Amino acid sequence: MNFSDLPPFLSEALAERGYAQPTPVQAAVLEDHAGGRDLIVSAQTGSGKTVAFGLAMADDLLGEAGTLEPADGPAALVIAPTRELALQVSRELIWLYAKAGARVVTCVGGMDPSKERRNLAHGAHIVVGTPGRLRDHLERGALDLSALKAIVLDEADEMLDMGFREDLEEILDATPESRRTLLFSATMPRPIAELAKRYQREAVRISTIGGERGHGDIAYQAVTVSPSEIENAVVNLLRFHEAETAMLFCATRDNVRHLHATLQERGFAVVALSGEHSQSERNHAMQALRDRRVRVCVATDVAARGIDLPTLSLVIHVEIPRDAETLQHRSGRTGRAGKKGTAVLIVPYQRRRRVEGMLRGARIEAEWIEAPTPQMIRAKDRERLLGALLEPVEFDEEDRELATRLLAERSPEDIAAALVRSHRASLPQPEDLIANTPEARREAQKDRHRAGFEDVVWFRMEVGRRQNADPRWILPLLCRRGHITRNEIGAIRIGGNETYFQVPRQIAGKFGAALARTANSEDEQDRILIEQSAAGPRDDARANRRNGGPPHAPRVHRKGPGKPGGKPFHKRKPRD
Ligand code: AMP
Repeated sequence: MNFSDLPPFLSEALAERGYAQPTPVQAAVLEDHAGGRDLIVSAQTGSGKTVAFGLAMADDLLGEAGTLEPADGPAALVIAPTRELALQVSRELIWLYAKAGARVVTCVGGMDPSKERRNLAHGAHIVVGTPGRLRDHLERGALDLSALKAIVLDEADEMLDMGFREDLEEILDATPESRRTLLFSATMPRPIAELAKRYQREAVRISTIGGERGHGDIAYQAVTVSPSEIENAVVNLLRFHEAETAMLFCATRDNVRHLHATLQERGFAVVALSGEHSQSERNHAMQALRDRRVRVCVATDVAARGIDLPTLSLVIHVEIPRDAETLQHRSGRTGRAGKKGTAVLIVPYQRRRRVEGMLRGARIEAEWIEAPTPQMIRAKDRERLLGALLEPVEFDEEDRELATRLLAERSPEDIAAALVRSHRASLPQPEDLIANTPEARREAQKDRHRAGFEDVVWFRMEVGRRQNADPRWILPLLCRRGHITRNEIGAIRIGGNETYFQVPRQIAGKFGAALARTANSEDEQDRILIEQSAAGPRDDARANRRNGGPPHAPRVHRKGPGKPGGKPFHKRKPRD
């Protein structure tokens, strides 16, 4: 099926947009046997699914004459899980149906409900909304679904996950039996099958996942880092790629807020999207990204669901996604509609196994790399600067006049250097990362016999080899919780279930007090018991030594994922 076979108002809109060929999911819904039928479609975001359901509902919207009838009540209803997605869907449907003269009304939580009621009263051909707000309008009598011809559940799996089952059922029950039900879902778990069974009739099943993978244009990379260096790695990745738009994913609102503040402090133009932002803040953030006033967005999974920014070419999983599906959803913000994208996972090294398993499960091949170094970033900057400054430019009179004045004062070389300098000054500085190579680690673990460690106190912590104890995460943890530096920690001896380490006697009191203050029963790492030990390590023979011990690196018992190394990347408590 070609777009040219569509009614002219649709094919013209698509042509103006520059869409020449249907994507696989669009081609599938336009097949003859799908016409007029219920559809159950597994298509990922980025596959062109919004236009696909837009096209699929064309026959339901058009009257006998092939044109839009004056709207009594909406003929089509699209329900999406989040405000952003609903707004995005309505934007797509507005341009797609502009030539047909369709009225599209959006009803989403966080927007002015009375304005929405007025819009609905004024007449709508298509209504797009989020489940809760649509249900409100329905219950208050503002939304009349009695003339509905087609209903679309977009990202249905996500809506059920978010607890919208009841709202969806209430809305579906208020529609005529004769309506078409188009169910779009990235995954098809049992609750989706149950929903389909109850509300669909002999649905045509369409799957474009698998054959053409939704994410074929995404290059995956995994970067191993020390947990304390995650933010620095993010800075360097952003600076290395200099993507037109980049999206960074964190697991919680607190972490979004913290990373947003950190990046802002370092000079990045960045916005945050999470559940703690009001609708108008979120709209501003999205607008700033679209206008390219900002280039980086830090977001939680839910807040970024379904977002489509055509210039987005870099996704960074700042915190490991909870499962392969989340990995794909997040990564699918890039590599959309045939464009190329990069998705980078930042992996604290004690989590590497877990991530390898997740990638295998999702059949994704990732390249394991080190975080870009400042040298690599500067080399890239040079390339980019040369490229940008050597691009042909048209100068106007005023430019030339200023150039002549500059040349009268300075040499051409000085002027060029000043230009380069001013470009460079706008770029945030790369961070020095602690090298993560085996050699660098061995170096860091060398004999720690040195001044200040003549008189030491032993401390004991309740993790050992069996819990994945490793100086690489223990050291940063001790510094963070005990408010001391790495240089103030002496020998570390790792036993089966416990680890001993030395602290100079003159700071042991201050260290112990800081440990007590920072203990936090809600946090996996901050729960670990650390206490002074009068006896010190008893079983030296089995312990790994950092102090004058054998030259090999400490043995790390890598048994399973999710051990205490999995601390979130920041430690500040939210202030509110
Ligand atoms: P979606 O999967 O609906 O989020 O769409 C992803 C992106 O692909 C959106 O920006 C669409 O406008 C765009 N798109 C949809 N259909 C086509 C097409 N046939 N050709 C090129 N891009 C498209």
